[in-house]
Amino acid sequence: MKRVIYIMIFMLLSMTILRYQSTETLHYTVEASLDNIDVIEDEKTVVKPKKLESITIVEDIKPHYVQGVIIVNKGYGLPSNYAPGENANARAAFNKMQSDAKLEGITLHAFSTYRSYDRQRMIYSNYVSKYGQARADKFSARPGHSEHQTGLAFDIGGADTTVWLSQKFGKSPEGKWLVENAHKYGFVLRYPQGKEHITGYMYEPWHFRYVGVEWSTKIVESGLTLDEYFGVVSPSYK
Ligand SMILES: [Zn+2]
Repeated sequence: MKRVIYIMIFMLLSMTILRYQSTETLHYTVEASLDNIDVIEDEKTVVKPKKLESITIVEDIKPHYVQGVIIVNKGYGLPSNYAPGENANARAAFNKMQSDAKLEGITLHAFSTYRSYDRQRMIYSNYVSKYGQARADKFSARPGHSEHQTGLAFDIGGADTTVWLSQKFGKSPEGKWLVENAHKYGFVLRYPQGKEHITGYMYEPWHFRYVGVEWSTKIVESGLTLDEYFGVVSPSYK
């Protein structure tokens, strides 16, 4: 009897670990700002970096706020010990948006949200070793400069997982629905098409930033990017 229980516990643990690993793999299907579709396709095959260098601790910089809104772009970064986890308000807003969308036949998944400094560092160093820093900087945020570290950035996909992290997502029903509706729930499309010279990132139809309904409405009405709206434009690292 005891043996049976041990075997069952072992199986349960193995299943949990396997599930965890597949989630991890998804997390490594990196961020941001890919300079072409080929790279995006390539993203999906990236799993883990070969070696992990020691983590550089950056604690002397302070998060930058404008009117209470935390700003993360290439000019404004976060210290390595800034680790708030996924933001509860952003999650609640996403869940509401997801259930409302469902009523219209639109399926939304938040496949990547909070990401720690260390995880971004792993992702970024993996790209640097693969593509060199100059190229990596065009599509991957340096550690401390990923908006995901705020816990307020949500990478969203639809029913068709083959267009997740692809610019093709923008043409999908879910991508179009988000452009029309995300601001009603407090989210703004962070890296719009044609604004690469302002945001410093390529068009990412999947990356949304939670700022709350009051700000998202104003930002969308202005037709500006978040960077322009708050006067923090910084398309390249200082
Ligand atoms: Zn993202």
